[in-house]
Amino acid sequence: MHPTLITELRFEPLNLPLTEPFAIATGAPERADNVLVRLTLADGTVGLGEAAPFTAVSGETQASTLEAMASVRDALVGRDASGWRPIGAWLTEALPRAPSARCGIELALLDALGRHHRMPLATLFGGAGRALDIDMTVTAGDEAHAAASARAIVARGIRTLKVKVGALTPEEDVRRMVIIRREAPGARLFADANGGYTVAGARAFLSGLEAAGVPLALFEQPVSREDWEGMAELTRASRVPICADESARTVADVVRLGREGGAHGVNLKLMKSGVVESLAMWNVARAFGMELMMGGMLESTLAMSSAVHFAAGLGGFDYADLDTHLFIREHSFRGGLRCEGGRVDVGHVQAGHGVELE
Ligand SMILES: [Mg+2]
Repeated sequence: MHPTLITELRFEPLNLPLTEPFAIATGAPERADNVLVRLTLADGTVGLGEAAPFTAVSGETQASTLEAMASVRDALVGRDASGWRPIGAWLTEALPRAPSARCGIELALLDALGRHHRMPLATLFGGAGRALDIDMTVTAGDEAHAAASARAIVARGIRTLKVKVGALTPEEDVRRMVIIRREAPGARLFADANGGYTVAGARAFLSGLEAAGVPLALFEQPVSREDWEGMAELTRASRVPICADESARTVADVVRLGREGGAHGVNLKLMKSGVVESLAMWNVARAFGMELMMGGMLESTLAMSSAVHFAAGLGGFDYADLDTHLFIREHSFRGGLRCEGGRVDVGHVQAGHGVELE
């Protein structure tokens, strides 16, 4: 038997407690209900993958993810993992509404292949680099929470803060931004509304910040995914770069954003689109001259390490929002990314993503 044939695919719930509820405009999960994937090759190599369905963003749940994986298991066993791009493309067609399930399988497959060939994933993705500077998120909450979060992030040595807005009024969010600016002077500030504002609300937020003298470096998904015209209107008018996240789930979405001038940049997330689809989105976004952010859902160090390999290895990313492992209170993994202050690094990884089960 060829050594890289897939002989077994197993998956199980991976429930991870968080340091605090991950509150955004559309929901506040208190635990990451993820899925662990184990994929075995004919030579005995085992690859690990993680799916992180984020219900408030994509509607996927742990149960729907397990179901989606079960539906493709028989078709995957017996295929050669070396064909990871055609397999990923097939999964994209087979499971169009289960991107995190696809991603969990793709990551396990790539990890197995990387381990078999003794190659780190960053090399497999292109070898452009091995490290990135990340931001950290201030989740949605009140002013006291914003102040405490900003202080804690600065104390970690992280110099870019991404603030979740859109859960309150624009005026209340501006007040939170003023407080964060005071607690983290000199830090670079992003805002992410997760589609929680109207166009008028987004304009009020931007002009409020300007009046208060708070510089904003990036404004992510100000209005809902369906409001393509609103995204374009804000992109035409805003001096702050507008980044599409929920509006950019597929290659077709990025093409539409590029053609309609719907954003200055896009946030790519492996869990949102899958690995192979994300590669295509990266190419299209660059062809349109758009900026690129690498982001995440609520991944532990397993999928986050994979995202670092992807973004650093491919290169060309302007922003790295790869902080969700910092919100996971307990897990049973070792290895993978090393995080020092705002720097994440996978340069020491010898093969695959480098994450092992304890
Ligand atoms: Mg976002």
